[in-house]
Amino acid sequence: MSASNDSQILSGKPVAQAILEQVRSQVLALKGRPPCVVFIRVGNDPASVSYVKQKQEKATWVGIKSILKVFDANGIDEAGLLQEIQKLNQDSSVDGILVQAPLPNSMDFAKIASAIQPEKDVDGFGVINCGRLQQNLPCIVPCTPAGIIELLKFYHISTVGKHVVIVNRSMIVGQPLATLLLKNTPQGNATVTICHSKTEYLQAVTREADILILACGKPAFFDRSFVKEGAVVIDVGISRVPSDNERGYRLQGDADSQSLKGYVAGYTPVPGGVGPMTVAMLMKNTLNCYHLCQLHS
Ligand code: NAP
Repeated sequence: MSASNDSQILSGKPVAQAILEQVRSQVLALKGRPPCVVFIRVGNDPASVSYVKQKQEKATWVGIKSILKVFDANGIDEAGLLQEIQKLNQDSSVDGILVQAPLPNSMDFAKIASAIQPEKDVDGFGVINCGRLQQNLPCIVPCTPAGIIELLKFYHISTVGKHVVIVNRSMIVGQPLATLLLKNTPQGNATVTICHSKTEYLQAVTREADILILACGKPAFFDRSFVKEGAVVIDVGISRVPSDNERGYRLQGDADSQSLKGYVAGYTPVPGGVGPMTVAMLMKNTLNCYHLCQLHS
């Protein structure tokens, strides 16, 4: 934890590292083959290439075997991808399957995610895991929302009775996160509002938040005029913005962190906030899937 003009910087790095170390020691203690996850990427979206690379690096570090299957966007259609998933569902040497978003527009991501056997659904986006989450049953919880809950817990940020405003209604972030925050648990019991692109008076709504969770993909859009003084801001958004560094871009969150410094109680940096949490939770989910697959074999 560090402070910036009295605003706490809620780094995800130490939290993610602790989770990765725990997974690593649990993987080391396994008897037999290590867990195996297959990453599927369709096309060459630069951000997707980078995300899958990071996931593979962390998998290697914790001792999880990972396999990458790359398909040319013009070389496979939805039916072909469904067939690939069926093959992996039936392969007993595979414990986890992840289809990296985004897919080409001609493919229905929700349909593809739901074709993954629920015990191998490391992202938790399939209809069975989504339904089980809603019904408070054991399930694979989507990595980013699960990581945000762990981050809040690590920094002792209570959600109980707090007004949490989430700017995102996707199945990847907003909806599962709202479900987790509404649970009758120490990391839940919040009063939750979800905003989206049709929300009227967005600024008035976000200014009501004790904890504001941003996942719009609008770089530096949220300055202090959107935020209540002393609130906690969790910045999920990641955008590439042009920069004169050697890569030609830098990563930017949805929050204008310069404007928030000294005004909010704490905020997550981008990069280094929610991103590392997502990857760490993916490793945890993969190990859980391994155990589920062993149970069902
Ligand atoms: P998405 O499906 O496009 O969702 C974006 C959400 O923002 C939608 O609900 C959209 O509303 C809403 N939105 C867009 N413009 C808005 C506006 N002007 N006012 C209010 N709401 C607005 O994207 P996603 O996959 O959930 O990802 C969102 C962001 O999070 C992206 O930057 C992504 O890179 C990042 N992300 C980061 C991580 C991580 O690990 N850090 C993980 C996942 C995603 P509508 O539903 O009405 O369109």
